[in-house]
This record gives sequence, structure tokens and C-alpha cells, in this order.
Amino acid sequence: MKVTRVDHIGIAVPNLEEALKFYEGVLGLKCTGIEEVAEQKVKVAFLPVGDSEIELLESTDPEGPIAKFIASRGPGIQHIALRVENIEETLGELKEKGIRLIDEKPRYGAGGAQIAFVHPKATTGVLLEISQREEK
Ligand code: ZN
Repeated sequence: MKVTRVDHIGIAVPNLEEALKFYEGVLGLKCTGIEEVAEQKVKVAFLPVGDSEIELLESTDPEGPIAKFIASRGPGIQHIALRVENIEETLGELKEKGIRLIDEKPRYGAGGAQIAFVHPKATTGVLLEISQREEK
């Protein structure tokens, strides 16, 4: 597998508009778009920072994974995403090595990426997203 960069850091926030007041208003980052990913019950804002991005995640459903995360741990870093050249190949290699996966197959991620999550038990406590998308 080839991991090429930290693609983004996913931060669970109770309210996107409120969070953007800090990330845009104070830090001066620019949100490049807000997208709703119905399957994951989440609304996502992307803010590029150099080669990487901050991904702000607001739940659209009290039963969604982000709402549950905030209820049990409070707002904050929810996952880290690493970009790989080939996600199918990476998943195959991880499976072969007996790494516990949440997603056995790539699924749709915000921004048109193909993503899959690796279980925190396998990564010393970090929910790890692997992501493949076009270089920009
Ligand atoms: Zn993500």
C-alpha cells in the first residue's frame, strides 16, 4: 500500500455555522463547500490547509454516528484520514494482515472520495479513514 498524505482531520461539531465562525472567522481558512452525506447522517464542511484539510462534521440525525460520538465523548477530533493511491489494494492488504476493518469495501465519502474506516482497536485508539481521490 502507498499512503501519500494526511488527507484530512475529521472534527465532530454540534453546529457547523458556529464552528465556521472560528475556523473561517478567526483562523482565516476558507470553506470550499458544504455537503450532506445522507448515508452517514452528516453534513460536512471542508476547509483546505496546505496539502490537507479540516473536515467539520455536523450530525443531521440524533441517531447518527457523529451525534453518538458527541453524546459520549463531546465535540472534537473524530477521525483522521490518510490518503492512499489505491484503496482496493490497501483494503486487500489490510485484510490479508488480519487488520480489523469497519468497511470491507470502499464507500462514498464527501467530496467524491472513496473511503473506508479501519477499526480503532487496530490503530491504538484512532478511528482511521483511508481515502482515495483525485489529486488536486
Ligand atoms: Zn473523513
